[in-house]
Amino acid sequence: MASSLLETFLVRAHQAPERPVLDFEQRRFTAGQLAGHVTAFASALQRRGLKSGERVALFLENSPDFVIAYLGTQYAGGVVVLVNTQYRQVELSHILSDSGARACVTGAAGATELAPLRAWLPALEWLVTVEPLSAPVPWPTVDLEALLAEGDAHASPPLPGGEQLAVLGYTSGTTGRSKGAMLLHRNLLSNVRAVTEAWRWTERDRLLLALPLFHTHGLMVGLHGTLSSGGSVDLRRRFVASEALASLCDDASLTMFFGVPTMYGRLVEEARRTGLRPRPLRLLVSGSAPLSPQLFHDVEETFGQRILERYGMTETIMNTTNPYEGERRPGTVGMPYPGQEARVVDVRTRQPLPAGETGEIEVRGPHVFAGYWQRPDATAEAFDLEGWFRTGDLGLRDGDGYFHITGRARELIISGGFNVYPREVEEVLATHPAVAEVAVLGLPDPDFGEQVVAVVVPRPGATPEASALVDWCKDRLASFKKPRRVVFAEALPRNALGKVQKHVLRERLQPTV
Ligand code: ATP
Ligand code: MG
Repeated sequence: MASSLLETFLVRAHQAPERPVLDFEQRRFTAGQLAGHVTAFASALQRRGLKSGERVALFLENSPDFVIAYLGTQYAGGVVVLVNTQYRQVELSHILSDSGARACVTGAAGATELAPLRAWLPALEWLVTVEPLSAPVPWPTVDLEALLAEGDAHASPPLPGGEQLAVLGYTSGTTGRSKGAMLLHRNLLSNVRAVTEAWRWTERDRLLLALPLFHTHGLMVGLHGTLSSGGSVDLRRRFVASEALASLCDDASLTMFFGVPTMYGRLVEEARRTGLRPRPLRLLVSGSAPLSPQLFHDVEETFGQRILERYGMTETIMNTTNPYEGERRPGTVGMPYPGQEARVVDVRTRQPLPAGETGEIEVRGPHVFAGYWQRPDATAEAFDLEGWFRTGDLGLRDGDGYFHITGRARELIISGGFNVYPREVEEVLATHPAVAEVAVLGLPDPDFGEQVVAVVVPRPGATPEASALVDWCKDRLASFKKPRRVVFAEALPRNALGKVQKHVLRERLQPTV
């Protein structure tokens, strides 16, 4: 039995080398070709002195090069550090110095961004570049093609064991500075097995993948699932709604599409604008951020099928999923995957709560990471003695076993002793005809401890009155939940995955002196 996803892929590639596995901008890779590049990359890294457990950062857009460097680093016994391509110097120096990466694989723009950080990154020794550089950099560099030529495509380095570290996945930084989640090979393997089983993913599947590979959703669900099931992937450099919709309408070979809610919102808009209608797929998946019941229904209308929403995070990969067969319930993230556990506990007593009561979601199982890199404090805080991991997400399990996420534990507002879940207030405000987007947060208040504040982006042309929005809430919710302050904004700060960064809003509304 394989000990890693890498091994599963290599065995499959050995058995069926001619099978197409990856398409990207007019280039097609069979499993055998991809495995050859991966092996050459691994052997070249080892010849250049990379030792087991050493880190290699990928600061790269989606491309076959990403896939080769990702699997190749693991085959060399190295640990992949995933870096969001939107990151600039502050985030980059944090992640690259925190992880102590020895090498970094990047493009011309990435190298330019890294160059001024030389003094802050003493561990970084060299760069692998996937295209010609626009300016010199203060490190030795090697072109990826040249590196592959240095290596041996027929080498057979020892395969990593299940307990070995495979990836340092840095969390998205939605709630603060991102932390490196240590994912072992066995975490990756057990989760991809659970996902492919739950979604009936087979070698007949072909996925349109426009999610970034530096993040769990694109990489550990989209790519891992493809490599593990023996299916194929049509990989895009980035998501462009018109291009994705055109493929979903024209390409009969596609069977699956995965996206974050913002992507589905754009696809629905594009379909309405053009009158185009996508062909039915076997599976549409949404995750990474809450999918509103409204968007669930809009997708159903546009695609003629019910989307499957699931819930995951960097630390644990996938936690829960709506059923493949059976009811996909809007506003819920379904049940734990096979072989994994999830429960809801009281935030203060940490005791499990009965169905219907809101608390913090905890998960346990073979998918759960080994701790935060060099953060024993954060690791100790995140686990209890029985191995339950505190997700930091608030939610409940309904009477039928479906989990609902109601917000982040850190974002819970306690106003006058009452719990206010920002999500609930956001959902009510979002139904107001003049509101395009909204974020609700708690700010310190001398009387109430915290006060409910709503940041509202009006719809184009609309000029809602703050008092009208407060009344809208008062008519629909308990009075203590209504916003005490409404602030209008042109846009909400979002991270690369489209998640609203409330800590940024908090700083704006309440500048620290
Ligand atoms: P950080 O931990 O640095 O604050 P982050 O939690 O946003 O950032 P990720 O690991 O990328 O970083 O995201 C995981 C989080 O995304 C989950 O904890 C959850 O809050 C949210 N999430 C994922 N899927 C869903 C979903 N289907 N519905 C609602 N929220 C979701
Ligand atoms: Mg998190």
